[in-house]
Amino acid sequence: MKLLYTRENRYLVHNIQNIIENNGIATILKNEYAAGAVGHLVPHESWLELWLVNDRDYDKAIHLINDMIKGSEEPDWICSACKETNTAAFEFCWNCQNSHE
Ligand SMILES: [Zn+2]
Repeated sequence: MKLLYTRENRYLVHNIQNIIENNGIATILKNEYAAGAVGHLVPHESWLELWLVNDRDYDKAIHLINDMIKGSEEPDWICSACKETNTAAFEFCWNCQNSHE
């Protein structure tokens, strides 16, 4: 198995998993239940990890992730309410649902 993607932002990892699985590629998540046990300062070890089940799908999966990342060329924005960083693709803050102004 190969590690495909990991981010502190669990919502992003779930988004990428959806896109990859919709293309018929099997994945599993690790650390899905790690956050919360360690308080609000989440160490890197508990970031949500997206793993590929079949290594032969690796090139296709990486291509899908790159396409998705390239699709949002606008810079990240900082939520005015909670100061979390959001990618340009999000119209609402992933953390507190505040709208992007
Ligand atoms: Zn926010």
